[in-house]
Amino acid sequence: MRDTIYALSSGHPPAGVAVIRISGPGVRFGLETLTGSVPVARHAALADMKDGAGQLLDQGLALYFPEPHSFTGEDVGELQIHGSRASVMAVLAALSSLPGFRPAEAGEFTRRAFENGRMDLTAVEGLADLIRAETEHQRRQALGQAGGRLKQLYEGWARRLTYGRAMIEAEIDFSDEEDIPGSVADRIWPDLEALAGEIAAHLKGARAGEIVRNGFRVALVGAPNAGKSSLLNALADRDVAIVSDIPGTTRDVIEVRLDVGGHLVLLMDTAGIHDSDNPVELEGIRRTMTTAETADLVLELRSLEGAGGAVDAVLAPNRILVGTKSDLVEGSLPDLPASGLLVSSKTGDGLDDLLAVISSRISEMDVARNDPLPTRDRHVLLLEECRMDLMAAVLGTGDPLEIRSERLRMAATALGRITGSVDVEELLGVIFSEFCVGK
Ligand code: GDP
Repeated sequence: MRDTIYALSSGHPPAGVAVIRISGPGVRFGLETLTGSVPVARHAALADMKDGAGQLLDQGLALYFPEPHSFTGEDVGELQIHGSRASVMAVLAALSSLPGFRPAEAGEFTRRAFENGRMDLTAVEGLADLIRAETEHQRRQALGQAGGRLKQLYEGWARRLTYGRAMIEAEIDFSDEEDIPGSVADRIWPDLEALAGEIAAHLKGARAGEIVRNGFRVALVGAPNAGKSSLLNALADRDVAIVSDIPGTTRDVIEVRLDVGGHLVLLMDTAGIHDSDNPVELEGIRRTMTTAETADLVLELRSLEGAGGAVDAVLAPNRILVGTKSDLVEGSLPDLPASGLLVSSKTGDGLDDLLAVISSRISEMDVARNDPLPTRDRHVLLLEECRMDLMAAVLGTGDPLEIRSERLRMAATALGRITGSVDVEELLGVIFSEFCVGK
């Protein structure tokens, strides 16, 4: 018999309402003990909640979701009570005294949902992302994935592979019989080749899926005092980085999370690049280089003040030159950067244009695609594996059918690992550790 688990599923008290969720075989007993009865399934019931000694703990709503049509697939109970620390503690204490009840571990409700076949692994990952979503596009992508968009896609592909294998097996079994017209197996290859193409097209969206999920990385680089920290602060609209006119203040990489047009943008302020023999500064400069190399976009800042303000240069496609401190150059501007971007962190001039450029760079990554995208490295690696096995089967025209069938089986196994229908035991710990207690 499984333990009955319980946890505070809503945010930290104090709050208007707290939701305590219970799952497992003891739910009916728990509801009856605390509230005096088991509510009608999926109907909220107003209830006095009492401890074992009959003392009133709180008044609130009780809900009952009988198995298997519940989030976890088990009996689930929900208590909606006042969201104070004391109310929550009192009700949790009452639950802890019930036999077979224990506090849930992080992600344990979702784990039970997975184990009971209510969700596949991609949906679990989507749910984890949804709980963390900060931007509109993250929300949409995660909601689609939590709702089974990737699952449907991958399971549909797995079914086509299984069908192909079934045809091959049939041909192997009945190859002696004369009334089989032509080769049954031959008819499956065009579809399987098309499938390999669909997987390849889906993989092309991986970068976009990752950008939506993890953010578009923008690095600010430039000489000390170019105005990097000031620009970061101006864009973040709050003081997050240390701004000072002593060169070399920003020794580490400071990251700010921005919502630009519904997309998460990770804006990174870096140490100014200059000659130095101070080991701390050198480490900062080394980190700047790494940040710039892995960024999706590098904004190279040059102060327009003094030194003629010459800021033109030929840069790599993901680098944009930005002239800073435009408020200091009155009237006639010196040489404009090729990008035409001039900003003043002091007056806010040019900041909207800069954000528009960032936004259009994000759009160029094809992030607005409507088809479900792979969102994690895990998906990409297994999809590659699947496609390679599939292509080996399709192209192996000289191989025995048994070998080609085996390759299709391996391709289907790779898909099964993504959705969690085949051996993923070692993965579960990693995936469920992303959840908080109560989910
Ligand atoms: P960083 O070393 O590149 O991070 O440069 P900071 O952001 O620390 O700025 C260096 C100096 O330039 C500071 O004294 C800022 O106040 C000043 N500064 C930065 N941006 C502007 C701006 O847009 N206008 C003016 N007038 N001064 C600025």
